[in-house]
Amino acid sequence: MSTPQNGRTVRVAAVRGDGIGPEVVDAALPVIAAAARLDGAGLEVTDLDWGGDRLLRTGTAMPDDALDVVRAHDAVLFGAVGHPKVDPDVSVWTLVLPLRKGLQLYANLRPVVGWEGIETPARDGAKVDFLVVRENTEGEYSGIGGRVHQGTPDEVATEVAVHSRRAIERIARVGFAQARERGQTLTLATKSNVARHGYGLWDEVVFGLGAAEFPDVALEKLYVDALATRMVARPESMGVVLCSNLFGDILSDLGAPFAGGLGMAPSANVAPGQDGPGFFEPVHGSAPDIAGQGIANPLAAVLSGAMLLRENGCPQGATALERAVGEAVRDGAARTRDLGGTATTAQAADAVADALPRPVAV
Ligand code: ATP
Repeated sequence: MSTPQNGRTVRVAAVRGDGIGPEVVDAALPVIAAAARLDGAGLEVTDLDWGGDRLLRTGTAMPDDALDVVRAHDAVLFGAVGHPKVDPDVSVWTLVLPLRKGLQLYANLRPVVGWEGIETPARDGAKVDFLVVRENTEGEYSGIGGRVHQGTPDEVATEVAVHSRRAIERIARVGFAQARERGQTLTLATKSNVARHGYGLWDEVVFGLGAAEFPDVALEKLYVDALATRMVARPESMGVVLCSNLFGDILSDLGAPFAGGLGMAPSANVAPGQDGPGFFEPVHGSAPDIAGQGIANPLAAVLSGAMLLRENGCPQGATALERAVGEAVRDGAARTRDLGGTATTAQAADAVADALPRPVAV
């Protein structure tokens, strides 16, 4: 898509998906490519038509060798999943989950940043900038469980939460590293006063690791219910929140309004220490109500692109892209309807591109 400079190329598999997915990915890619040039890098994009339309056309949302295809790239930029003619469960289980699970992406990072000029539930002037680090492979989403006596008054269902020392330790390392880099407190969200076994292990492992390897990082523990209250009452007091799969799922959605809504919420699924591409995607779904109208907010996809660049050796481009989003949102040019503006998807992306610094000629 853009000419690699200094020989560096970031290979991106673009999975546009359904609904507004193609619109926001199409708008975001040129802006991400422009930002990569600030690090002297070029994007090489492979377009993959995976998603609901392909499922209806061919019977499968993606080809059998999909994992090999994405593994030949540095990163996946994903749009959205959810087709009006496909059962939501089928959409998720045939595309997004197999890819995320197949790549063994154990860390889900969801930053929440309050942007100047965008109204949010945060109090006036409160500066919100926190990160939810969510364990992505086990917990309450292990899939272990069952039902007996189905359909009778005696029916019982179990949903087994799995918490392993190995998984807690590796996600805790990500949390500590992020807190260190951002200069923020690491807040561990558990519920070890009631769910004593699983969350007791979380407390033990995280505090042990902190004392042994990250004594310079401030660490606190909050029960998840108290943490939810604090996030709503004082979002500016949050730094890096470390949590299990279920708690992270809920807390990161709770945080989204403080960023200005789903159109401003990026995410990354990564596996530090492992080979293979990360998976970068806006938190929003396919938004069928506005799909095809050219009015979707592309900034969550753009900001996911900034995370992609940071993970792939383009720190200057990543930071510049985030600053450009801030500037373009502040002066109003990048505000789509969900942000109270009138910009189209393309205009919002162009406004961000215009706010990027020009690469220095070499
Ligand atoms: P899905 O079933 O795919 O999750 P959904 O409509 O239930 O789709 P989302 O797509 O996450 O859930 O979004 C909920 C609503 O938020 C949408 O209907 C849309 O109005 C709004 N929305 C989400 N993303 C955006 C965006 N990028 N720009 C503008 N509005 C958005």
